Amino acid sequence: MRAALSPVELVHLLGEVGAYGVNFHDNDLVPIDATAAERDQIVRDFKAALAATGLVVPMATTNLFGDPAFKDGAFTSNDPQVRAYALQKTMHAIDLGVECGASIYVFWGGREGAESDAAKDPVEGLKRFREALNFLCAYVKDQGYTLKFALEPKPNEPRGDIYLATVGHALALINTLDHAEMVGLNPEVAHETMAGLNFLHGVAQAWDAGKLFHIDLNDQAPGRYDQDFRFGAVNPKNAFFLVKFLEDVGYDGSRHFDAHAYRTEDYEGVKDFARGCMRTYLILKEKAQRWNADGEIQALLAEIKAGDQAPIVYSAGAASELKAHSFDRLALGARGLPYERLDQLTVEVLLGVR
Ligand code: MG
Repeated sequence: MRAALSPVELVHLLGEVGAYGVNFHDNDLVPIDATAAERDQIVRDFKAALAATGLVVPMATTNLFGDPAFKDGAFTSNDPQVRAYALQKTMHAIDLGVECGASIYVFWGGREGAESDAAKDPVEGLKRFREALNFLCAYVKDQGYTLKFALEPKPNEPRGDIYLATVGHALALINTLDHAEMVGLNPEVAHETMAGLNFLHGVAQAWDAGKLFHIDLNDQAPGRYDQDFRFGAVNPKNAFFLVKFLEDVGYDGSRHFDAHAYRTEDYEGVKDFARGCMRTYLILKEKAQRWNADGEIQALLAEIKAGDQAPIVYSAGAASELKAHSFDRLALGARGLPYERLDQLTVEVLLGVR
């Protein structure tokens, strides 16, 4: 086991490896039982370390999963006292995050769920989640903070089943909130991958909805426990398409590595891990530029898109014209598509031979 480092020491470690910023749960920085005076001293020391290293705090979040009080959820607990405590803890944590400069506030509801649906009505669970987010949005507006919320979906672990299991579930809930414009997504590679889903597709849907507020980058083998491996460590091809997407669309939020070094590592190994996350992202960004500039790849894309046209807009005339049109169905089905060649060229770009 590695000995624990203090928040100040961790800021210096991140500064040493060239990180841009640092994010934290409230209790990563301030212990849950700290006095007000202790809290203020800790925050002063932390901010001095930020100033010394040049690191920033783009995002903050609340630990609503570690304390036994939250064993049956925080915002969705069956106990109204726990729900009220969760709101109180989150308001204090929001104040702390804003004081440290955060502009995004993440909600990962790790305990918001159930092992048995006999114990908690899922509709009631969603209603409580909605009420908590409405309360906290109103609090943020009332304080005059320019803070946006980002929900982080996960299908299971530590609960048997967690509410808001995927990006799609969270997007649907956001549309029912009082201040939907303040709330978006923080998708995490490992969480969608655990469920066997295509992470990029979830990210693309969040982006399409204008809701990609933040992203947690790491890696994960499908069907395993939540591994949080170094970015790109398991599936560099998936990581490539993700980086290419973020760069191509001009995503301007944080590239946040929510990952952990192997437990085998000492502190030099932790630095190798942190540098590896950033280096792999930058390598894949360069590969994406290479892919976009590759003449053969672009020719194949042009071939695939040949004859593409604007979508048919509905009108009574367009509908009857379309109904009357004669399609050569056999010819449509017989057309070959060069996806094998395109994918092989992609692999060759990744393997460094193009
Ligand atoms: Mg995360």
